[in-house]
Amino acid sequence: MIYWRVIKMKLYNTLNKKIEEFIPNKGKDVKMYTCGPTVYHYAHIGNLRTYISEDILEKSLVFLGYNVKRVMNITDVGHMVGDGDNGEDKMLVAAKREHKSSMEIAKYYTDCFKDDCKKLNIKWPEIVSPATDNIDEYIKIISKLLDDGFAYISDGNVYFDTTKYSDYYKLSGRNADDLMVAVREDIKEDTSKKNPFDFGLWFTNSKFNNQEMQWDSPWGRGYPGWHIECSGISLKYLGENLDIHCGAEDAIFPHHTNEIAQSECYLGHKWCNYWVHMGFLNDKNGKMSKSNGEFLTVSLLEEKGYNPLSYRYLCLNSYYHNTLTFSDKILTGAESAYKKLKKKILSLKKEGQLNKTIYNEYIDKFKNTLEDNLNTSMSITLLYDLLKDKNINDFTKRELVKKFDEVLSLDLLKNNKKTVDKDTLQYINREISKRNIYKKNKEYDKADAIRKELEEKGIIIKDTREGTTFEIID
Ligand code: AMP
Ligand code: ZN
Repeated sequence: MIYWRVIKMKLYNTLNKKIEEFIPNKGKDVKMYTCGPTVYHYAHIGNLRTYISEDILEKSLVFLGYNVKRVMNITDVGHMVGDGDNGEDKMLVAAKREHKSSMEIAKYYTDCFKDDCKKLNIKWPEIVSPATDNIDEYIKIISKLLDDGFAYISDGNVYFDTTKYSDYYKLSGRNADDLMVAVREDIKEDTSKKNPFDFGLWFTNSKFNNQEMQWDSPWGRGYPGWHIECSGISLKYLGENLDIHCGAEDAIFPHHTNEIAQSECYLGHKWCNYWVHMGFLNDKNGKMSKSNGEFLTVSLLEEKGYNPLSYRYLCLNSYYHNTLTFSDKILTGAESAYKKLKKKILSLKKEGQLNKTIYNEYIDKFKNTLEDNLNTSMSITLLYDLLKDKNINDFTKRELVKKFDEVLSLDLLKNNKKTVDKDTLQYINREISKRNIYKKNKEYDKADAIRKELEEKGIIIKDTREGTTFEIID
């Protein structure tokens, strides 16, 4: 019998403000762009929640049968302290803070970000490109925008004229007056602009002239604005028709709004069909942010004794689009649940035969949870249902867990073996001997009770032909 299933992926599309069926431009090929980090500091776990959700999206699409080409930028120039054009470049602030060059700062924090991604099992995208590697691309786009009348030069800087693009408010779904009130801080008076929402494409002049990194351009030596980098990098590597663009919800305005404006005016047609935005991680003070001073990093979680994957587990248990409010208490709860889950999985026997019918049924159910706008908390509920299901043998369960983990990436079958001290070893051997005696006397309840008690402590008993062995898991 040929196994056949139609993919029906549904995603919340910010562009149309509803959950929609996802249909790529070209069959099974998906072009996906995700905004990368600004590498002026360590990533906090709020930033990383966004990358975890994007990782789940990419892996879900692959699991469902799509070929995904994913590109991410690294912002190493042009992102101002305010998300608009005001304040200093964040990279410069860091260079001053740490008495290093901007490039040294970028390299150091990019490496740290990579390490964090590794610890959280976030796949590094196929193409990752720093903003400073693509200056020619920005110059090409800006030149055309100027030629076509969508941009203007004022006081040496090049600005995008937002009044020339009639769909400017389509992503945010808010009108100019509303936005003006909401983002008053970010559109601080820049007297060189014609309209308040106009944004910088290239700077050569005024308050920005202490910028350390500068390049020659037709408009003088200077540097690009923040938004142009994502349009430039996406167009360069993914072409004129993008399927999915992601970022956290704070990127909707101004960053993604401006990306759409400049890309569509440059191309002369629609650019990206699906805009997927990730919810914030809040702490007790509201949105976790680097500028608030206190923020949590993966290394800090480790210092506090947490396994970084407990944080991934926590994120997967909430819907990606919603705000998740973080506390030590909920992470402790997640860690304990995650450990118990792993213990259960690692105690599954390795021997047996695959039940193909059940296997396919569960794979279908798992796909359904992903297709339901990435309902990962349902995916995890399904995993628990699977483990509880008495009609499925351990081998089939293991094979299914292995498959689910291609998306969940929680190292569910990986045994982080711990070394055992002498006293623990003596204790385990004593308990195993007791259990063997119970088994010999057919006192199976008592034997089982010992096995369970050891399991609670992370000690997994295995009965083999050669005798009883054990594994200790973290
Ligand atoms: P940045 O390194 O500041 O450019 O931010 C990297 C990504 O993390 C961007 O997509 C931000 O919108 C996102 N982000 C920032 N703060 C949070 C937060 N508290 N929760 C979730 N995502 C966030
Ligand atoms: Zn971006």
